[in-house]
Amino acid sequence: MTTATAAPRQAVPDPDLGRDWRAARLPTGVVHLDSAAAGRSSRATLDAVATHLRREAETGAYVAAAEAARAVDRGREDLAGLLGRGPGDIAFVESASAAFAALLAAWPLAAGDRVVVSPGEYGPNLARFAERGLVVRDAPVTDELGHVDVDALVRLLATDPPALVHLCAIASHRGVVQPVGEVVAACRVAGVPVVVDAAQALGPVDCRLDADAVYGTSRKWLTGPRGVGFLAVAPRLVDVLRPVQPWGEAGVPALESHESFVAGRVGLAVAVAELLDAGPERVRAGLAAVGARTRAVLDGVGGWVVVEPADEPSPTTTLRPPAGWDDGRVLAATTRLLQNHGIVVTFAGPARAPREARAATLRVSPHLDVTLDELDALADALPQV
Ligand SMILES: *Cc1c(COP(=O)(O)O)cnc(C)c1O
Repeated sequence: MTTATAAPRQAVPDPDLGRDWRAARLPTGVVHLDSAAAGRSSRATLDAVATHLRREAETGAYVAAAEAARAVDRGREDLAGLLGRGPGDIAFVESASAAFAALLAAWPLAAGDRVVVSPGEYGPNLARFAERGLVVRDAPVTDELGHVDVDALVRLLATDPPALVHLCAIASHRGVVQPVGEVVAACRVAGVPVVVDAAQALGPVDCRLDADAVYGTSRKWLTGPRGVGFLAVAPRLVDVLRPVQPWGEAGVPALESHESFVAGRVGLAVAVAELLDAGPERVRAGLAAVGARTRAVLDGVGGWVVVEPADEPSPTTTLRPPAGWDDGRVLAATTRLLQNHGIVVTFAGPARAPREARAATLRVSPHLDVTLDELDALADALPQV
């Protein structure tokens, strides 16, 4: 037990990082282990959102948007830096799903064109491909966890190139990190367009990639506001895209949503600036350490088994339930963790990755501020649910 005055024992080996991350945020009344769903925003991010909303009421939303243009442009530059692109390559939208929809809608792919994905491809993305009549094929993998086999992929790209490779750098249902840099490089050599879903990866993974497009969301590991997403498009792909141009804009600006949550974009700019201040590499190392610590604490507790390798460089851990449990029981356990123990985790049902997932897991996704006491609280609660 810690006393009220004892400093919390940070789970990250870089304790200043965890402590600073925690100090920058409101205290939480729960054990929040759910950043893969939505991270907790900092006070500065919340203040920026609230200040902008007030300003909209005081001076008119369009005047406020003009005043905020520099802040949003700073956010665009910072985000572009994290994605290895220029600020002119970034379109802001409402979510990762909206980014992917805007990209596919503008891309002149034909029905019957083939898309290679990892077996853990996100369910809603598969629905989009199906809607367009695209034929999905699994990339070769090295193991039952679905890590893409880059050498075999290189051979596939050379002998039978698809119209597109689409890769979730980290999937939704499992904290497995794909060799995204190598996949992008292989696609570039083969001349096959490659798109990266970085919704779970920006934060934990280096996403400075020369992919044709990379997209993601504000609210997860960046801990920005909900309702904001982004799409980064390489200049070489912009020439191929045919975006709908409601106001006559062309290129990347035509992909950006017109009506928007400006306060959210302002908040995201603050969240990204904070991540840059903390140091993206330091944050990546810290998040990997959080994942390793989480797996060490939880594996085997109450019959729950960690799916990921212990040292997978990802902050997300999924737990397979004890033998004989069905998905309904996992869902009930998730509810009980919240109601009886104040612990927030995700029920990760198989619909998140229908080509790979066979049964539900518990997804545990702490951020840098997690303490050992919080991980222990989950370990203590799991045998009781
Ligand atoms: C969350 C998630 C998405 C969708 O993001 P939204 O912002 O909710 O649209 C897409 N892909 C993966 C891998 C995700 O985890």
